[in-house]
Amino acid sequence: MAFILPEKGISNPSGIMFHHFHGLTYNKSPGSISSNDLEKLLDNIEADKLLSADKWVDKFFNKELNEDFLCLTFDDNLKCQYEIALPVLRKRKIKAFWFIHTAILEGHTDYMELYRYFRSETFKSHDDFFNSFLDVLNKFDLLKKCENALSYFIAENFLISSTYLSKNEKKFKFLRDEVLLKEEYTLVMNYMINKFSNKNILEKNLYMSIDNICELIAEGHIIGLHSHTHPTALKNLNKNEQKKEFQKNYEVLFNHAKIKPISMSHPCNSYNEDTLDVLKELDIKIGFRADTVKNEYSNLEFPRYNHTNLMQKLQNV
Ligand SMILES: [Zn+2]
Repeated sequence: MAFILPEKGISNPSGIMFHHFHGLTYNKSPGSISSNDLEKLLDNIEADKLLSADKWVDKFFNKELNEDFLCLTFDDNLKCQYEIALPVLRKRKIKAFWFIHTAILEGHTDYMELYRYFRSETFKSHDDFFNSFLDVLNKFDLLKKCENALSYFIAENFLISSTYLSKNEKKFKFLRDEVLLKEEYTLVMNYMINKFSNKNILEKNLYMSIDNICELIAEGHIIGLHSHTHPTALKNLNKNEQKKEFQKNYEVLFNHAKIKPISMSHPCNSYNEDTLDVLKELDIKIGFRADTVKNEYSNLEFPRYNHTNLMQKLQNV
């Protein structure tokens, strides 16, 4: 049997990065996978190369981490991971890293994730959402600006590595990230949530609770940092602001879950030398990027495969 991982000729230990799962009450969303998909993916990794996170950490400290060892990592404290992926891990007796951002545990809203969840839970398809989005843009006199920008837009040249995105998904991300002002996008999305759904109910189903996180710890999983407020471009913050992000992240996990994290993943893969300094100051030993594109990796920049790209690779096996 040909395995999809570890890749031949790889020169670094790596993680597999998971985000969204569908199944139970969770609808499909761009890039999401089911518990069957997860099982299939795990079946296609060489069994003796895939380590439980606790073993991975032990080998790291004992300098026994071979370049083709793999581990599983879950970002963003999503409840769908807890509900859908965790039972599979339990069945297979494998532990993972879980990278937690903490502002939402203190009652703040992560709008990016809330909007994503709203889009997938409220509409039958992304195309349905996108049509409503265009209607609301029109209501707020933003449609013309967007249509002008889209007339120059070439989907094939945008987010090239995210091959799983449809044309309309790319158009939406382009309008959100590069055409609309943040205030304009927020205005449109908040209007849509009020019209089509309910913010409080959405949030309750979106994130793991403190109890869920403590349960993971009790079962031997490794909890790590992922910043406090999950900025999309952390590297644009000055060193002091970055330090606040990770220090607060650390404190909340220590206060609520009584742990001293030693691992982390970089939110949105955004970091710079200041970030690495800040992490060293917090005594973080292991960090993960969100891709595998670099040639040389420090211990705070281990590469990770994106689960969605691996699923695509599986379909071609
Ligand atoms: Zn994240």
